[in-house]
Amino acid sequence: MKFTLSTVSKCSGRLGVLAGIDRLPAVSIQTPGFIFHTKGGSVPHLSKEAMQHVSSTEPTFLHLSISNTLHMQEAIKASRTTIAEFIAQSNSATLLFPRDPSESAIPGVPEKESLPIYTRYGRRNIGVNEYMEMVEAFRPDAYTPLYDADTDESSSKKREQKSLDRTEKFVEQSLDWHRKSDVLRSCALIGPVVGGYNEKLREKSIEFLRNTDAPYVGYLIDGLHMNGASVAYMDGKAAVPVVTNVCKQLPEEKVRFCFGAYDAKLVLDLVASGVDVFDTSYVYVKAAQEHRALAFSFDVKSTPNEHTTELDTTDAQLAEDFSPLVAGCACYTCQKHSRAYVHHLHNTREMLGPILIMIHNLHHYLEFFKAIRHHVANDTLPVLRQHLDRQTSLPPYILKEEKVVIPTATVLKDDTEAMKEPTDVSQDKQSKKQRA
Ligand SMILES: [Zn+2]
Repeated sequence: MKFTLSTVSKCSGRLGVLAGIDRLPAVSIQTPGFIFHTKGGSVPHLSKEAMQHVSSTEPTFLHLSISNTLHMQEAIKASRTTIAEFIAQSNSATLLFPRDPSESAIPGVPEKESLPIYTRYGRRNIGVNEYMEMVEAFRPDAYTPLYDADTDESSSKKREQKSLDRTEKFVEQSLDWHRKSDVLRSCALIGPVVGGYNEKLREKSIEFLRNTDAPYVGYLIDGLHMNGASVAYMDGKAAVPVVTNVCKQLPEEKVRFCFGAYDAKLVLDLVASGVDVFDTSYVYVKAAQEHRALAFSFDVKSTPNEHTTELDTTDAQLAEDFSPLVAGCACYTCQKHSRAYVHHLHNTREMLGPILIMIHNLHHYLEFFKAIRHHVANDTLPVLRQHLDRQTSLPPYILKEEKVVIPTATVLKDDTEAMKEPTDVSQDKQSKKQRA
């Protein structure tokens, strides 16, 4: 994998191309851009055929995470295929990471030698050996060594330090494995930069990666949040300076990844900081969990205060609204269906509902990134940022379920899982939904 930087603007980030995959020489993405967030290797809710409605080309770069691909390991090993072949995406580049940006990290103190992962079979602690065995079986086009970046703005200094210490240990062990492995020779490495909101620890993390002398194709800036749907409401005031500083210290010619369900404004701020590649977990969180269609305007010639950033498709007022989700949108959903129909699909819990919203949201996101690249090229990203600032946002999404807290004392004795932690049922349902 190779990154070619073409333009660095004064106040609007940089333009480049990510390509150079040995087995897919024709596949590339322009940056700032995104890789497709997947569950088990598929874009959630969209079949390959449905993806054709989003873009005429197949998804070129896929974000895979171990929580929803771990169960494939034995079958992949037995069939002697790569993960790309196994998920029938041979024409797409596969990038493997420990965390799914749409799933909240598991709270609590992690084990010393492993990273806790929620899989379809429950919680698993993944150590370096298990992780690297999985990487060897999958043979993705690129991956990060195992690391611990379960930190956010509220993490203590102690936790941030621990994240760095554990990451250093995990990365060293992963690299040892990588160097000895013949199978992994064609897999590119991405260096994980951790250290939470502590600038000194971030510097140390970068220095550590430099000293490992590994041929990283790029870097992943992680540890800014605990992933999941709440990231969509992160304001980024504290995160952006951290990312800016990290980007200043990273080698300019290397690609920088930064994953999470960031809203459009935060994406622009991170682009201006120097981030090149994002993922589409925001689109998924909005479509599948919040039933919201992206409607923010990125046409700076339009009047900004006429726009609302999202459309709540559960809103009863849409029942007789036969206009498209977003006026002027060229996506399949907006061309063929109305707000009233999508609202009706939600009411009748039809599976087609999230599919149609996903198609629109992905299309909207693709067009948004085209606009970003246009503004980076003209060094006018601040104009687009101001345009977004003047648009009206919907109130944050709240899970519309009754909150029921089960006190520990009433839990049956044989229900050992529930006895460990008194649970807030609505939250638990939400996190299960996120993991699904
Ligand atoms: Zn549309």
